[in-house]
Amino acid sequence: MRVLFVTSEVFPLIKTGGLADVSGSLPSALQNIGVDIRILMPGYPAVLDKLTDLQTIASLENLPVIHNASLMMGRIADTQVKVMVIKSASLYERDGGPYSDANGLEWLDNPVRFGVLSKVAAILSGPHSPIVDWQPNVVHCNDWQTGLTPAYMKLVEHSQAKSMISLHNMAFQGCYAPGWLSTLELPHTNFAVEGFEYHGQLSFLKAGIFYADAITTVSPSYAKEIQTAEFGFGLEGLLSKRGDEIKGILNGIETDEWNPEADPHLIKTYSATKLAGKKLVKSALQEKLGLHIDASAPLLGVVSRLTHQKGLDMLVPIMQNLLDSGCQLALLGSGESALENAFSNLAINNPESVSVTIGYNEPLSHQIMAGCDMFIMPSRFEPCGLNQLYGLAYGTPPIVNATGGLADSVVDTNIITFKNKTANGFVMSEASSASLLSCIKQALNVFNNDESAWRQIQKNGMSLNLSWDKSALEYLAVYQTLTKPA
Ligand code: ADP
Repeated sequence: MRVLFVTSEVFPLIKTGGLADVSGSLPSALQNIGVDIRILMPGYPAVLDKLTDLQTIASLENLPVIHNASLMMGRIADTQVKVMVIKSASLYERDGGPYSDANGLEWLDNPVRFGVLSKVAAILSGPHSPIVDWQPNVVHCNDWQTGLTPAYMKLVEHSQAKSMISLHNMAFQGCYAPGWLSTLELPHTNFAVEGFEYHGQLSFLKAGIFYADAITTVSPSYAKEIQTAEFGFGLEGLLSKRGDEIKGILNGIETDEWNPEADPHLIKTYSATKLAGKKLVKSALQEKLGLHIDASAPLLGVVSRLTHQKGLDMLVPIMQNLLDSGCQLALLGSGESALENAFSNLAINNPESVSVTIGYNEPLSHQIMAGCDMFIMPSRFEPCGLNQLYGLAYGTPPIVNATGGLADSVVDTNIITFKNKTANGFVMSEASSASLLSCIKQALNVFNNDESAWRQIQKNGMSLNLSWDKSALEYLAVYQTLTKPA
């Protein structure tokens, strides 16, 4: 089984969110079960810098706008995962993030940047590939940035390979003015409802969903939710037409990176049977963040993009109530300025009980995950979510809204789930501040009054197998179904 895994971000090369985590972990888990996999991604400066054994392997021709580019291949350090990168100084080698400049403004040529990524994937899977000794059986696309790949494969390159698209977040669709059609050399006849047209625009994501041979998404609940108007972001009709085919496969976590027993970012490691270390990590975190050092103060953790999706606006109005109950908050994140300001003000007014770090900080994210007592994630929608999985692995019971992957991974604590030892967190009954407050209060009730019950809830989460091995087998099954002779 040869798989070309096309993606716009890969941890540890470049990351803005969960897609990078998936792209950094799933290919290696698939490789471990015998899949011959190569990643294809843009050659951003950080990627060119960090790959080892990087060499030019082919020259790419007939590309939209830039005409030519080099195809290079290297390895992610300390792994055997092969990464092919498109080297184009004009498209990818600039300061700023993968999608926007340093001021957060989207790059105006994103349609070309990701159109070319999609086109190269299609070329590499088709009869005109410049690589003769490696042809994929399956092209595995991820999110809108790669959405044009299945369209190019079917309509332009006449590729024999099968295509699939994994949907990591329907909120991002890559919709652009129809003028881009000619620039990207897409057939105008397919700019239609039965094609890549969406309300008069060219939609990268719709192209992927319409033309891919298979569709997966990152949790079973999200697979159902995206077929409804609330979560489909306008594509629910198309998705529900292919409803039975959409497979939800819950993400795993990178256990080499996220393991409290061997986490280099912690002053002391710990495990389900030796939880004492977690207390030391908590006091070190309180000290580092300038919080009052107090083992008994319930420390709530947040690591998140601060956007509407993540629902943290629901936390702001109940913070005073929680502080009055003796809670502390350690928040790390960045995003909408109104939310950044609201939390920063809370920290200014409550320096010993609220710490807010605006920015992106990998070590601190580990320390918060490990040092806090509860992890707060009231997302309005959450395709899979990784942070609640990290919370489970770190004995930091997640407090979540009942949506998508949160609903599929966090088991609410009640009499039945506590008895059968599945309880591993607390689940809100609806997306509201009142529900979040009542959920946190339930957690506080156990945390403050019943240490052994709290231990049990922590252990239930810590003993789950959250590794990628399980998910990788499910992806392999999809590849096998796709390539089975008819
Ligand atoms: P999403 O991809 O929607 O942002 P996920 O929970 O799936 O949410 O994944 C988010 C990933 O990004 C996690 O690995 C999380 O730890 C990380 N992350 C988010 N914000 C920050 C931050 N400010 N600093 C460090 N890591 C962060």
